[in-house]
Amino acid sequence: MPGIDTDVLVIGAGMAGLTAAARSLSRGSSVIVVETSATVGGSAQFAGYAWTAPSHEVMDEVNPNGSPALRRALVDGFAPGIEWIRSLDVECADAVTVLRYGTGHQFDTNQYIGECRKRIRADGELLTSTSTLRLLTEDGSVVGARVRLADGTEREIRARATIIATGGFQANPEAANKHIHPAASAMQLRSNPTSVGDGIRLAEAVGAATGKDRSGFYGHLIPTGVSFREPADFVALSLYYSEHALLFNLDNRRFIDETAGDHLTTMALLEQPESRGLLVADERVYRDWITGSYVEGAVAIDKFDLAQRRGGRCGFAESLDDFAYLPEEWGYDGAVIAEEIGKINAAGRAVRPPRAYDAEPLDRGPYYVIEACPALTFPFHGVRIDENGRVLAAAGGTIEGLFAAGSDTGGLYDHAYTGGIAPALVFGLAAADRATADRAVVTA
Ligand SMILES: Cc1cc2nc3c(=O)[nH]c(=O)nc-3n(C[C@H](O)[C@H](O)[C@H](O)COP(=O)(O)OP(=O)(O)OC[C@H]3O[C@@H](n4cnc5c(N)ncnc54)[C@H](O)[C@@H]3O)c2cc1C
Repeated sequence: MPGIDTDVLVIGAGMAGLTAAARSLSRGSSVIVVETSATVGGSAQFAGYAWTAPSHEVMDEVNPNGSPALRRALVDGFAPGIEWIRSLDVECADAVTVLRYGTGHQFDTNQYIGECRKRIRADGELLTSTSTLRLLTEDGSVVGARVRLADGTEREIRARATIIATGGFQANPEAANKHIHPAASAMQLRSNPTSVGDGIRLAEAVGAATGKDRSGFYGHLIPTGVSFREPADFVALSLYYSEHALLFNLDNRRFIDETAGDHLTTMALLEQPESRGLLVADERVYRDWITGSYVEGAVAIDKFDLAQRRGGRCGFAESLDDFAYLPEEWGYDGAVIAEEIGKINAAGRAVRPPRAYDAEPLDRGPYYVIEACPALTFPFHGVRIDENGRVLAAAGGTIEGLFAAGSDTGGLYDHAYTGGIAPALVFGLAAADRATADRAVVTA
């Protein structure tokens, strides 16, 4: 076709973008990928599991306010997504339980990233250190983008389909405060540093629908006062075990069912006074969960020991009586918290807020105390898409030629979470399939 440089232009080379690009190539389309940083992989480099809810029923139960069409498409597309990963000769382990209600496969995301990159380098074009200035439009359709290459020159890439996959806006403090919570920018960034909201900016400029605000974010609790020094800290410092512990706010009260999941507690803590709280474990929780593996196959790390070594606010109490010696400057009343723990243990299953999935008492000293705060991986607010990854228009309908996938998208989750890799994979594939539908040269 005259004036068209490529069939598919992909903006962002993380999980969603690389998936969409490799799939588009496999369907015989020409592909150009632009990536803002010097390397590819985004946050996917740090992930270990592709997982989601195993059935529509579970998805509906744990994520009741997410878009019904996207929830359905994610569950239906998951098994074919795993098949796709395996089709690139990337090994996916057998299914294990993830976050109590999910099912997923451990796989080497860096091997997957490498396989996708190899295919793009061989049959397409990969432009790293390239920024996207704006999308090109004609008669309301998106027909590519204007980009600035690594050498500073600008180029118009004309494309039949443009797929946005820049990974969200978590590294943009203003956007985080606006769309997540006014205190959101105080959270440490637990993701790649380059997802600053370009995907949403580009899409909104051509009339895309976005939403909804305050739908939450994915992240985990970490010890307060401890900075991430390297990406390995994102997992090492995450206090996943909080779902078996007790979390008290600065009013010395529990405020959520911690046992529902660390990722949910993390969102709730953001909204508490000063977004910090005291996480209390006893000897059982320390033995079974602090030093244990979070998901089968994951490396176990003694989180308490690490937090202590890294200068976090940590306390060790032989018994509840020792809570009276909690440092005053932390701002909690240790004696009141000890009394609360006694009441919680006595209440058992009648405790409020409930402890639905682990109501065991925390009655065996010593106690391990860490002050915790939330860290941000990616927001749930983003560009609205349909189940084929087509971008919805604010004015209604879809925007011709424009697709989005991964953490740039919104609507799938609302204060709930069933994986980040899985939606990037499933909607990256769906977008590629739809974008290349009319010219698929399927080699079967
Ligand atoms: C420590 C950690 C562990 C995780 N573990 C898991 C896990 O086990 N399972 C799971 O399901 N999820 C996990 N996640 C989440 C998962 O990694 C993300 O949900 C997933 O990578 C999202 O894919 P994406 O393509 O949207 O974004 P990314 O993979 O982050 O990729 C976005 C890419 O876009 C690029 N980009 C940004 N702006 C532009 C621009 N203007 N132009 C071009 N390129 C741009 C970025 O540089 C980046 O390369 C984890 C995340 C972290 C940080």
